[in-house]
Amino acid sequence: MVHFVGAGSGAPDLITIRGMQLLQKADVVIYAGSLVNPELLHYCAAGTEFHNSAEMHLEEVLAVMQRAESEGKTTVRLHTGDPSIYGAIREQMDALKSLGIAYDVCPGVSSMYAAAAALKVEYTLPEVSQTVIISRAAGRTPVPEKEALAKLASIGATLVLFLSAGQSEAVQAALMQGAYTEATPCAIVYKASWPEEKVIRGTVGSLVQMAEENDIRQTALIVVGDVLGDDYALSKLYDKHFTTGYRKAED
Ligand code: SAH
Repeated sequence: MVHFVGAGSGAPDLITIRGMQLLQKADVVIYAGSLVNPELLHYCAAGTEFHNSAEMHLEEVLAVMQRAESEGKTTVRLHTGDPSIYGAIREQMDALKSLGIAYDVCPGVSSMYAAAAALKVEYTLPEVSQTVIISRAAGRTPVPEKEALAKLASIGATLVLFLSAGQSEAVQAALMQGAYTEATPCAIVYKASWPEEKVIRGTVGSLVQMAEENDIRQTALIVVGDVLGDDYALSKLYDKHFTTGYRKAED
């Protein structure tokens, strides 16, 4: 059996209890060494076999899983954050399916949530934005034309960009082609939940400067939108004049 496990954003206590227990029981662990905090491997038992997938290609990863399976062993494939976001798990799951190897997925705390915590922001504020767009700038991996950043930017929703910190100039230009202005609040969160975490706040107009002055190219998220600003409406959910399924409105 292979368990795909979300390691969380970095801090070793941000893995789920289920994920930690799967690590404790694993015989073989294949971890994404470029982003997974190695401290998480301390949850594993003595004698666990480790492989750093940063140095492996897909076939090598699959070969390790296949061998472990043939020996009746349990494998954890440890991905950073939540595996469903830029985790490259689909190709592994499809290969396991055709090999007849059972697998499941344990979710994790994505870095986009660790970044929200670091910023102390709510991504969905009443009357400001009720939508979060998760995307990236096109790089060596292309983005479908229909999802070009300037098009997504035309909506003006809360935007969380992965894998894009090294392209702040292109990002800034695309954002300003859309609904954002130079004054729209924007933040860069570097290594959210790690000891080296850095939170840089500014505006779309200062994005390039924010990235350059702090020398940030990777392991960072760019968060854009008015939810980072000061204006919003109070929620209906806790409005005393609003009836909900659990509570009657007061006069
Ligand atoms: N599945 C992961 C994302 C993997 S893609 C998740 O859910 O978080 C790798 C990108 O994620 C990095 O380039 C960076 O943009 C972002 N990232 C991963 N960990 C991060 C962290 N601790 N802080 C900020 N960004 C992070």
